[in-house]
Amino acid sequence: MNSLKFDCLIIGAGPSGITGGIYLQNAKINVAIVEKSAPSSKIATLNEINNYLGEKSIKGIDLAMKFQEQLFSANIPYFSDEVIDIKEHQEHFEVVTNTTSYLSKYVLISTGIINKKLGILNEDKFFGQGISYCSVCDGALYKDKVIALAGKTINNDLKYLQPIAKTIHVFGKKQKNHDNVIFHEEEITEFLGKFFLQQIKTSKEIIDVDGCFINNGVIPGTSFLKNLNEKYPGLLSDKGFINVDSNYETNIKKIYAVGDAINYPVKQISFASGTACAASHNIISSIKKETK
Ligand SMILES: Cc1cc2nc3c(=O)[nH]c(=O)nc-3n(C[C@H](O)[C@H](O)[C@H](O)COP(=O)(O)OP(=O)(O)OC[C@H]3O[C@@H](n4cnc5c(N)ncnc54)[C@H](O)[C@@H]3O)c2cc1C
Repeated sequence: MNSLKFDCLIIGAGPSGITGGIYLQNAKINVAIVEKSAPSSKIATLNEINNYLGEKSIKGIDLAMKFQEQLFSANIPYFSDEVIDIKEHQEHFEVVTNTTSYLSKYVLISTGIINKKLGILNEDKFFGQGISYCSVCDGALYKDKVIALAGKTINNDLKYLQPIAKTIHVFGKKQKNHDNVIFHEEEITEFLGKFFLQQIKTSKEIIDVDGCFINNGVIPGTSFLKNLNEKYPGLLSDKGFINVDSNYETNIKKIYAVGDAINYPVKQISFASGTACAASHNIISSIKKETK
């Protein structure tokens, strides 16, 4: 097994990991990034982004390409690898993958979240083509349209979407209809359409819609912290998000966390970058204090 040594190792190359990498590299810190998929792979799957400063409206794939270009032009050492554990040693952390151990004095975790799917026929086919997992991100695209809403955790989505949409069909819930909200006890069995989602099928009927929002909960990308959480209870929240203090440091000194993976309700690109900016500044000043 090889071992590589850094001052700060970043786990995950979404907008938060890349932002952290750029700040640390600019400050001449010996930094590297480990990513299990591709840089900004999540952003690349998004449809239209219209709330990111400097880009009035941009396709996810185009923004992801810009992020990737900036990452690679910064010449930050980059490794394609999945982190499966972090071990603690006297002078450093050992960030473990199946093939390598990365040794680092500081660790910045930016591993994001995974949206839980419903597992319904054609759900993947229409993702980004009428199906969205983020009402705050895509809700504005459905002004005065007929939309569907489904999943275990939709209460906030309903509140957010109700003033925007013309009609909202909520599936899998037995409640009295009110205002522009129609409740259907039946679950969705299939999504229908040619290239874009057009209809929702249940065991009872087929309903025409312009789009569908799904919120079935999220899984934070923190399974590799299981062992550390046993040693340092409270590292993870009961839902698996990373608890941080106001410096974005966890309850383990020199391990920081940012972006979607932390225990904070906002999950947006600007927030991911902002938290990474703050955390990397704290890491830089801490490293500089040590080397004085
Ligand atoms: C449908 C949808 C639409 C959205 N639209 C918008 C929008 O319009 N505007 C907006 O601001 N935000 C939007 N978002 C939210 C935005 O995508 C996230 O807030 C942002 O991607 C968070 O960045 P991050 O760097 O924290 O995490 P991510 O972008 O999720 O990046 C985490 C990275 O870590 C990697 N990783 C995970 N585990 C490991 C591991 N063990 N080892 C190595 N690498 C690992 C992953 O492969 C991934 O590349 C949307 C989200 C969804 C789902």
